[in-house]
Amino acid sequence: MRGARSLARRRRVRTRATVSSREVVLGVDVGGTTIKGGVVGIDGSPVTTGSLASPDAGGSALLASVRGLVVDLEADARAQGHTPIGAGVIVPGIVDERGGRVLYAANLAWEDLDLATELESSTGLPVAVGHDVRGASLAERRVGGARGLSDFVLVTLGTGISCAITTDGTTRVGASGAAGEIGHTTVYPGGETCSCGKRGCLEVYASAGGIARRYHAAGGEPNASAATIGERVDTEELAARIWQDATDALALALATLVLL
Ligand SMILES: [Zn+2]
Repeated sequence: MRGARSLARRRRVRTRATVSSREVVLGVDVGGTTIKGGVVGIDGSPVTTGSLASPDAGGSALLASVRGLVVDLEADARAQGHTPIGAGVIVPGIVDERGGRVLYAANLAWEDLDLATELESSTGLPVAVGHDVRGASLAERRVGGARGLSDFVLVTLGTGISCAITTDGTTRVGASGAAGEIGHTTVYPGGETCSCGKRGCLEVYASAGGIARRYHAAGGEPNASAATIGERVDTEELAARIWQDATDALALALATLVLL
């Protein structure tokens, strides 16, 4: 993550010496459902935020949306008299953080995408690309529930499912950048097909998207969200069955995870 390291150096040096209170950084979280962005000062104080729905098709349409949000955030910050000095973008999937590339993100339809270069060419800012859950893990360790911990696991349940494994104070990336991608571990061999092409993956059954999709496919209300389905478990047999499949799959995956 060459860009991030140089950005970190700049931030450290200027914070201690001649930092301007007008310097800010952009942060963007690219999800399968929503793209969320924000601008924060060097001290972490919020300046502005923005979000938009992720295009269903992902791919180039999603990249255009991310580029648009980054450009808008930068313009908004400048309009308020701030000076953006860099951007960080986090995405789900397999990420080459050193190279600034998204190697594979099934829910975004991105494969071998040089995201840092794409966004640097639009903004002129140095751009660091990271994994969304490792980013969340870093935040929890610095200012959240994992402060002071050097060994912990953070699991996220959303459109997909992922986790970050921190041992001896280091969040593990893995040899191929896929450490913690538990959403695509097999919980039901030969089960339903996943967006990654395999069968029986955890997130087919236990992600918010998977719960809603399975509920609809079995004849449930077409627009019911996972949260709504969860509220129906005591009153509707179909909701209870789909929810039980999800919790069984999640329990199996977590029981395995804590033994790694
Ligand atoms: Zn999968």
